[in-house]
Amino acid sequence: MLKSYKTEICLTAEQRGRIFQSIGICRWLYNEYIARNKQLYHLYQRGCLDDHQKHFLSAMDFDKFVNHKLKNQEKYAWINDCGAKARKKAMVNAETAFRKFFNGEAGFPKFKKRSRQSVGIYFPKNNKGDWTIERHRLQIPTIGKVKLKEYGYLPVGAVVKNGVVSQKADRFYVSIVVDIQSKSYAEPTGEALGIDLGVKEFAILSDGTKYKNINKTTAIRQLKKNLRRAQRCLSRKLEMKKKRGEQSAAYFANISKNVLKVQKLHQRLHHVRVNYTNQVIHEIMEREPSYITIEDLNVKGMMKNRHLAKAVAESRFYEFRMKLTAKCHERGIELRIANRFYASSKICHACGRVRKDLKLSDRTYVCMVCGNIADRDNNAALNLRDVKKYKIA
Ligand SMILES: [Zn+2]
Repeated sequence: MLKSYKTEICLTAEQRGRIFQSIGICRWLYNEYIARNKQLYHLYQRGCLDDHQKHFLSAMDFDKFVNHKLKNQEKYAWINDCGAKARKKAMVNAETAFRKFFNGEAGFPKFKKRSRQSVGIYFPKNNKGDWTIERHRLQIPTIGKVKLKEYGYLPVGAVVKNGVVSQKADRFYVSIVVDIQSKSYAEPTGEALGIDLGVKEFAILSDGTKYKNINKTTAIRQLKKNLRRAQRCLSRKLEMKKKRGEQSAAYFANISKNVLKVQKLHQRLHHVRVNYTNQVIHEIMEREPSYITIEDLNVKGMMKNRHLAKAVAESRFYEFRMKLTAKCHERGIELRIANRFYASSKICHACGRVRKDLKLSDRTYVCMVCGNIADRDNNAALNLRDVKKYKIA
């Protein structure tokens, strides 16, 4: 079974320099490839070319051009400072971006910015010693041994297929794909579990457990406040720079310091949220149910509602569902997705009647027919647990 891991690494100054350099070269190649194809595409748009697919420069051709023509010129000799496979991967990524655009799956490819550092460098496994995982160290091809921030997270001695080193907000990460034997898990208990997701509470399980919405906690609120302050501070500085036309190195250093501060806060918020999602999923898995039912949330539709959009985006429902699906597959749990139009919160779990007049503000469900009084979300979770119409994810 292939499994991916991502973890932070600590680099020495020298390793840091080499990675920076390689990332820079990959970014340059990515952007150069985009620029050349962009030009061709513009010519096609103006009617100078009959078919853009025919003239499209493939990653393969561009790689040949770089290796046989560009690299031989003295002013481009620095291209050699980055591994050939990593360079190729950057071009293939750029080609994929174009293909997605041609298929209508994505917008026109954008240039990668240095300030955003969204380029990773790819390292395949070439030699036997490459990508050896130890408890506290990892052997990365051409970079050498690097120290891991978290000991014992990566499976020691496992076979790594390939990996990518990336950088974000002054930290370095490695993502690796590992071929490991799937763990054997305890036999499921045979129980079913319904999960109702929401904006007020993040998740309510049919057994009564509630998971709060982490975005309403003081810790997150404080972080968001700090972020807003840092953003204001940065934008004030940028405004001043514009007004005065200041261009000194000290001024530039001060601004980059503030950019980093904002990036770090974003990163911290992201980590707290991801961690919370992982924890909730872990606790659900510990119950070892045989079936889990969730509703098919219309995230795109909810995002169109401007009152809900922000809360929905911050709750990361999509990520939750993706991770839950993966975990269920791994453990052999059946994940049932209830129909989008199944009114889980409006049906009385005791007698099955539908209350059409239930408002979003009614937090307790009171059934007029059988007199059942229940918590609104718990009632919904119970309905989901016993739902009859579903598809299996
Ligand atoms: Zn009822």
